[in-house]
Order: sequence, then C-alpha cells, then structure tokens
Amino acid sequence: MSSKILIIGACGQIGTELTTKLREIYGVDNVIASDINTRKLDLVNSGPFEIIDAKNFNAIKDCCKNHNIDTVYLMAALLSATGEKYPMEAWDLNMNSLFHVLNLAKGGAIKKVFWPSSIAVFGPTTPRENTPQHTICEPTTVYGITKQVGERWCEYYHNKYGVDVRSIRYPGIISHKAMPGGGTTDYAVEIYHEALKNSTYECFLSENTSLPMMFMDDAIKATVDLMQVNTEQLSIRSAYNLSAISFTPKEIAESIKKQLPEFSISYNPDFRQAIADSWPSSIDDNVARKDWNWQHSFDLDAMTKEMLTQLKKKYSA
Ligand code: NAD
Repeated sequence: MSSKILIIGACGQIGTELTTKLREIYGVDNVIASDINTRKLDLVNSGPFEIIDAKNFNAIKDCCKNHNIDTVYLMAALLSATGEKYPMEAWDLNMNSLFHVLNLAKGGAIKKVFWPSSIAVFGPTTPRENTPQHTICEPTTVYGITKQVGERWCEYYHNKYGVDVRSIRYPGIISHKAMPGGGTTDYAVEIYHEALKNSTYECFLSENTSLPMMFMDDAIKATVDLMQVNTEQLSIRSAYNLSAISFTPKEIAESIKKQLPEFSISYNPDFRQAIADSWPSSIDDNVARKDWNWQHSFDLDAMTKEMLTQLKKKYSA
C-alpha cells in the first residue's frame, strides 16, 4: 500500500486533519503538504511542506516530479459563502486547479486523484429529503456550479482518458482542529466555540433549517476508505453522495444544552439562509454504502460530546 502523496490546500479545515491521517497511514515523509500560505504553522512544521498555488500548473507539476508523487488530494477551493462574494475568483480557482490535476493524471504524471465535491451541487429543484445519487442538479451558487461542472469533468476524464479520479459530495463538516473556511454550514462549528466562550450564540441560519452534516473523523474515514478501495468496486466517477446526520440549529443547540444547560441561542439569518434553503435537508448515500461499505460513526450527541471535550482542552491550554 505504498504511496507518495501531495495534498494541495492542506492548511484548510479538512486538509489539516487529512494530512495528519495520511501521514499516520503512509509515513510522514511520503505525504507532502502544500498551501498558498503558511498560516497553519503546526502543520507546516510537522513534515514536508511546500508553498504551491493551485492555479499554477507548473508548480504542481514540478512538485509531483521532484517528489515522485503518485496521488494528489486537491483540497484548495473557495467555498460557498466566500464564492458568492468573489464569483470570478471562485470559478478561476475551483475550475483551473481541477483541470491542472486532471491533466497531470491524463498525461500519466500521477496515478490517482481525490477531489471533493459538495452537497452544493444540488439546488432548489432537487428533491430535498433523502436526495438520491442521481437527481436534478441545478445549483444556484457559483460554488455549486463549480462543483457540478467539476463532477462532469471528473467523470469525463475517467471515461475518456482512464483517469482514476474519486470524489465525494461532502455535507457540512464539523471539526475542532481548524476553523471552517467560509461555507454555509460554518455555524455548526462556531456554535461550539461560542457555547464555551460566551454561553450564547447568534446563528446566521433560522432555527428550523435542516442540513446534512458530518463529524470530521467520519469525513476523513470516508476519504481514506474511498481512496483505498479497488477500482472495480467503484460505480460512480462523478461524486458519491455521502451522509451521516442531518440537524437544524435548534437541534444542535438542544444537544449542546444537554452538556451546558446555561447555553442559549438566537437567530439572525443573513445571505447564507438563501444558500441553505437551496440545499437538501438529508441525503441518500446507499450507493456509497453498497460500493465501498461506507458507514458513519458519530450521531449528533456523540459529536457534541467530542467537540466540547476537545475544545475545552484547547481553551484551557
Ligand atoms: P478551507 O477553505 O478550510 O481550506 C482551503 C485551503 O485552500 C486553505 O488552506 C487555503 O489557504 C487554500 N487555498 C486557497 N487558495 C489556494 C490556492 N490558490 N492555492 C493553494 N491553496 C489555496 O476548505 P475546506 O473546508 O478544508 O474544504 C476542502 C475541500 O472540501 C474544498 O474543495 C471544499 O469545497 C470541499 N468541501 C468542504 C466542506 C466543508 O464543510 N468544509 C463541505 C463540502 C465540500
């Protein structure tokens, strides 16, 4: 199971924890972390690190050549809320970085690619409950459009050129190590920080907005499992639906109150409400469960317990 890996966008919310996990599995020196900046110093100092702009084809190519990379995880992107503020930048980064990596794989410079998609590929015309793997995808955000188009290109590169590209439609990811980077589900991370710091939180979504979510440990497990499974087992080369839990701001607040009874929440929806309203409230991920035995471990209360335990340690240190 030897592999030489490059992670692009490694300093982000998911990249930080993915880097740690892949280094545990493949060895520190076999996993090169890269990002456009060095803002996460603990990650930068924990193993090989390079500054790489994901929009720079030659920089990615040179790094792959210099380190004999066979597998690239492309995590750099502008997310949903930031993408609405900077639409052209989101299109530029999200699409060009993907083309660079797919073209390297097409040319044989690398063997395998992981590129995350998102529930943002869905839109207001998609069935909201138990959204199927194959369904209407008419996204209304720039971010969602980049993910939908990206999925089409991944499948095209696989069918046409035999590129081994694998992808997941991540739901909102909740974690305690790195802060989220400008998405619509960020409230579900911020709420735990504010619960511990101030015992209160003003949510930018309304109380009954149900969205699909997942604890980071489950997201990392899914990513690693998908990348390790034999290619014959995979029936989807666009991106797999992936699901764990769905909850509303009111329900996560109730879950926090079980641990911190003094906690209170208020609601002040902003522009992100319209984005959330265009997304599914729950996802049918039977194809992932069947193809590569995906199953999640954390429900809402288990996640709350773990988030509060880990964040308490962080704040007391
Ligand atoms: P993030 O915003 O936390 O991290 C992205 C990283 O990319 C940052 O470290 C940033 O510095 C880096 N980056 C930005 N521009 C770059 C460039 N030009 N070159 C190199 N690096 C650059 O994002 P994340 O939450 O870790 O998401 C990773 C991937 O997963 C993205 O593709 C995102 O769309 C997808 N995703 C995330 C979530 C979620 O809830 N976090 C949900 C669905 C999909």
